[in-house]
Amino acid sequence: MIIDKHVHTPYCPHGSTDALVAYIEHAINLNYKEISFTEHAPLPLTFHDPTPEKDSAMLLNQLPAYLEELKKWQSYYASALTINIGLEVDYIDGFEKETTELLNEYGHFLDDSILSVHFLQHEETYYCMDYSEENFGEMIHVFGGVNKIYDAYFSTLHKSIESNLGKYKPHRIGHITLVEKFKRKYPYQQPIHHYTNPILDAIAAKGYELDYNGAGFVKPLCLDSYPPQSVAIEAAKRKIPLIYGSDAHSIKGLAQGYHQIIQDHLD
Ligand SMILES: [Zn+2]
Ligand SMILES: [Zn+2]
Repeated sequence: MIIDKHVHTPYCPHGSTDALVAYIEHAINLNYKEISFTEHAPLPLTFHDPTPEKDSAMLLNQLPAYLEELKKWQSYYASALTINIGLEVDYIDGFEKETTELLNEYGHFLDDSILSVHFLQHEETYYCMDYSEENFGEMIHVFGGVNKIYDAYFSTLHKSIESNLGKYKPHRIGHITLVEKFKRKYPYQQPIHHYTNPILDAIAAKGYELDYNGAGFVKPLCLDSYPPQSVAIEAAKRKIPLIYGSDAHSIKGLAQGYHQIIQDHLD
């Protein structure tokens, strides 16, 4: 029985148009017991989405329909599958106030949520770190080296854990090694534990959970989970719950990476 607590939906502008009901039916066929739909929460209106199509997240005017549709399927399928209504909320350094306002307005509709870092700031400009291999290559020039991107990513991630986003702040931290998405092209020589151990300590101190994300296995320049197994072992030592997430953006992405992830480490 699979529990998958990181799944996208047709409300994602950069995902597939597969219908919500198709995700649910496919999940039931795959022997899912529980699923959390965690669409990218609308970005602050004052934040300029750096991606070319401005399609990083659901639009604010779609959010009520998203919540309403999930509510409908949640009760319709209640006997077959536990469906949690959720969001993947971006932590954007400098936009804590706007993010808190969104959570204060919509948090009470949510059963589950994830806090993730996709955007990194350099001087006055924000970059979408996981957008593409080419974009990552440009970021290396702008930031001044792969190590500088790692520094920026993990320091932003650390801030996300420590940030005060109000009473609806998500308690699960998304794909904490997303910076490794292109590691086979842009490797970083230092052991990742240098960065991840302090992050895990901060997560443990807060009593948060970790998104154990299978999507990296299907990214050709990563071929690993977020985080890798050695980091998951460190998390388990700190008694941090590891929660599997497929991060599917289409029905065929459901359960991706699940069987590669050491199941002993799953809660
Ligand atoms: Zn996405
Ligand atoms: Zn994400």
